[in-house]
Amino acid sequence: MRDFTKDHRWLSMNTATVRKQGDLLEIIDACARHGIGAISPWRDQVAHVGLEAAVRTVKAHGMKLSGYCRGGMFPHGADQAQAMRDDNRRAVDEAKALDAPCLVLVVGGLPQYSRPGSPASRDLGAARTQVVDGIAELLDYARKVGMPLAIEPLHPMYAADRACVNTMRHALDICDALDPGKTGALGVAVDMYHVWWDPELLAQIKRAGKSRLHAFHVCDWLVPTNHLLEDRGMMGDGVIDIRAARAAVEAQGFDGFSEVEIFSQNWWAQPMDTVLETCIERHKSVV
Ligand code: ZN
Repeated sequence: MRDFTKDHRWLSMNTATVRKQGDLLEIIDACARHGIGAISPWRDQVAHVGLEAAVRTVKAHGMKLSGYCRGGMFPHGADQAQAMRDDNRRAVDEAKALDAPCLVLVVGGLPQYSRPGSPASRDLGAARTQVVDGIAELLDYARKVGMPLAIEPLHPMYAADRACVNTMRHALDICDALDPGKTGALGVAVDMYHVWWDPELLAQIKRAGKSRLHAFHVCDWLVPTNHLLEDRGMMGDGVIDIRAARAAVEAQGFDGFSEVEIFSQNWWAQPMDTVLETCIERHKSVV
C-alpha cells in the first residue's frame, strides 16, 4: 500500500469541492499553488470557462486528470433519446480533449429526473434496462475515441433521481455483460460516500480487479447527515474507514489518484485555500 503520509502526490481534487469559491481556471491555479497535481472537473465548470481555455490551463500547469464528471443520465422518454445520445458523446469528446483517464457515469434514475421533459414513470426496472442499453451504445463510441467509461454506483438514496445503479455488484454485473473481456474500456468509479455501507464492498473490489478499478473517490459520511446531497464530510470527520478501502483497491493494483469529492454547504463557505490545505492534511493523516 502506498504511503500517503509524507506528501500529496496522489491527491486529486474533484473541482466540485470548491465550486462556489472560484471558476475552474481559478481552481486549477489554486491547486497548482498548493502542489496538487490532479483534478477531476465537471462539465458545467468546463463549459463556463470554455473547453479550450480549460485544456490550455490544465496543460500549462502540467495538471493531470483523475476523471471527468460526468456522462450518464441514460433513462429518457422517446423524444429525449437523441439529446441523451448527443450529450453523452459530447461528454466523451470533452474528456478526450482534456486527456482524462475516464469519463465518470452517473447513470440516472427515473426518466423524468434523468432527462427532464420525459414522461413520469415509476418503473425502476425499465430505467435500469435503459441504463444498460445506454451504456452499451455509448461504449461503442467511447471505444472508438479511446475513452474508458467508469460506472459510479450511487448510494440508494439517489435511486429515483440520480442513479439506479446502487452497488458495486450491480455496476460490475453491467461491466461483465458489456465488456466480458475486461478490456479496460468499462469499469467502475469507487466513491466511498456511496458504497462504504455495503457488506460486499471489499469482495466486490476484489472481483473488480485492476482492469475495472478506474477511479477512487473519498470524503466522509457524517452522522447525522443533514442534507441528501450537500452534506458530505471532510475525510476524518465521519465514519468511513477510508484506509481499509484504499488498501483493498491497491491490493488489486490500483495505482491512480485518490480524488477528494466533497459537496458540502459547510466547506463551500470556507476560503478555497482553507479547503485545499485541509484536504492535503487529511489526505496524509486519514486517507
Ligand atoms: Zn464520486
